[in-house]
Amino acid sequence: AALSRTAEVDIKGGWKVGEPVPYAALAHVFSLIEATTKRIEKTSLLTAFLLLVIQRSAKGDTKSLLQAVYLCINRLSPDYIGVELGIGESLLIKAIGESTGRGNATVKADLKKEGDLGLVAMNSKNNQKTLFKPKALTLPFVFSNLRDIALASGQSSQAKKVSIITKLLASCQGFEAKYIIRSLEGKLRIGNAERSVLVALAHAAVLAEKGKAGKKWSQEKLAARLTEGAEILKAVYSELPTYDKVIPAILEAGIDKLRETCKLTPGVPLKPMLAKPTKAIGEVLDRFENKKFTCEYKYDGERAQVHMLHDGTVSVFSRNSEDMSKKYPDLVEQLPHCFKENTKSFVLDAEAVAIDRITGKLMPFQELSKRKRKDVKVEDIQVCVCLFAFDLLYLNGEPLLQKPLNERRDLLREHFQVVPGEFDFAKSSDAESIEEIQIFLEESVKDGCEGLMVKMLESDASYYEPSRRSVNWLKLKKDYLAGVGDSLDLVVVGGYYGKGKRTNVYGAFLLACYDSDSEEFQTICKIGTGFSEEVLQTHYDALKPLELTKVRGDVKVGGAKPDVWFEPKIVWEVLTADLSMSPIYTAAQGLVEERGISLRFPRFLRIRDDKAADDATGPEQIAEMYERQVLAQSKGGKKKKGA
Ligand code: ATP
Repeated sequence: AALSRTAEVDIKGGWKVGEPVPYAALAHVFSLIEATTKRIEKTSLLTAFLLLVIQRSAKGDTKSLLQAVYLCINRLSPDYIGVELGIGESLLIKAIGESTGRGNATVKADLKKEGDLGLVAMNSKNNQKTLFKPKALTLPFVFSNLRDIALASGQSSQAKKVSIITKLLASCQGFEAKYIIRSLEGKLRIGNAERSVLVALAHAAVLAEKGKAGKKWSQEKLAARLTEGAEILKAVYSELPTYDKVIPAILEAGIDKLRETCKLTPGVPLKPMLAKPTKAIGEVLDRFENKKFTCEYKYDGERAQVHMLHDGTVSVFSRNSEDMSKKYPDLVEQLPHCFKENTKSFVLDAEAVAIDRITGKLMPFQELSKRKRKDVKVEDIQVCVCLFAFDLLYLNGEPLLQKPLNERRDLLREHFQVVPGEFDFAKSSDAESIEEIQIFLEESVKDGCEGLMVKMLESDASYYEPSRRSVNWLKLKKDYLAGVGDSLDLVVVGGYYGKGKRTNVYGAFLLACYDSDSEEFQTICKIGTGFSEEVLQTHYDALKPLELTKVRGDVKVGGAKPDVWFEPKIVWEVLTADLSMSPIYTAAQGLVEERGISLRFPRFLRIRDDKAADDATGPEQIAEMYERQVLAQSKGGKKKKGA
């Protein structure tokens, strides 16, 4: 399908081998992708475009494809380097106003009507009369300007940003302004999930290799090669999530060699393995029947992936691949005491937990969350941190992901040592019966943990699965046993003004889950009880700067009517007593029933600043939670609830 679409994807006149990719070509394919809702078509269009980029890159040029892929996922660097877009609405309005000579108020009024600043910019540009046709924008030029904008800091950075954006807009033609503005906003909104970009990249690479070698493959063979290419790339990327390394490797040695050329590398954080929730110990035993498993304390801290390079450099990464070395300079300092002489390089999966070094008592996550996220000085630290290691993913030059957990655990224990208050191994018990697990669970709670993580211990089912929420890791929280479900991580998309004493702040909030397939936020509930005045003020201060003129196009609103809309950015962890079908909210619509799912009596637990908006709970998880609840209720003889 992709091959048949290359002509459609190419722009008039195309571009020659070795010439920079015209930005118009990217804007054109974005417009085609945006115009269809079919995922397969989106992938074919993108494949066709990336194939053109590969075919027209000069020998040895890996940058063109790299920058094209980055712009397709709207990023400028790997996650862990964190060069981020996401420019505020007012700055963009100013730049559009200036470059089109229409003034901020007119642009604002248009935005209110259209709800899409990209569209407003495009229309403003295209209605503008110009004497000269501007010089065409190229993809590398746009890329480097976007980087300059993202990296601008310091006193005059706002003015610098506006000036670069204004200049970029001055050269825009056709669809270009629409996508440049949306890129700057931080969301392309063309329904181009990163997973599909990965598949398109793999397909383009396979088709390019086929073309280059003049290979004649049957339809079956081609289909098999495409599937295989996508599988290889997905697996490799979850181990080494950086296009900076993966794309040159594809172009130099081919996708078939990728498993050899790109492996887990200290310094590049991999996406962590995640666990599935379980509600009862019996469920654990059902799942792990006749298999060896281990129960570990589930510590209440912050996930920390600790890397040490061969030269001794230590970095700490968050669950979200953010570099936290500046938040935890004490961890970085402590670490050299914790491994033995035979340890030269490693990647540890661990939990950083606040600890009282005098009593040895663990403290809840709230203590850690008081720390600044950056520029923490060791001498200012009041709450100490102990690292509880539960996995070893890389050791002395060798990735260990495909070794069973019991072997990884043995290596961990052989190469590291306990330093009281600084480093320990996650406490574990290879318990087998309900009674034993129950006792260990109670012990974990008594020791200040949230419950247990139960993990498959032997065979290939216990390999480390980066970025997967796997059934081979189950979380058993004390809350679940009390009949309370797992918490959800939801994005704050709207606010309702307070009443009475609370008129100066928002009194309630509209929350949404995130569907990474369609790249949209789906509303799920209004939350407004249980906040103290102080907490409401904190939320107000954090959310006020994110207020928008109109709801963003990627929020599937349903019947919700908040007083203000926010840029979807802030993630809250929320607990709910119950889920119900809802005629108002859109979460998981069509998964269980046509109606969406809503939370009854949601309770705010905490802000999750270690999660980005697109890490929020997804609709499949919500549908799964709902179905479990229905099952539990039918087992308990209760009737299914509707609301
Ligand atoms: P998730 O990470 O599953 O999206 P979450 O971040 O909300 O969810 P939880 O549901 O509380 O966190 O559980 C998983 C987290 O528990 C891990 O990401 C990790 O930070 C923490 N954890 C604590 N102890 C362990 C352990 N022994 N093994 C694995 N993870 C652990």
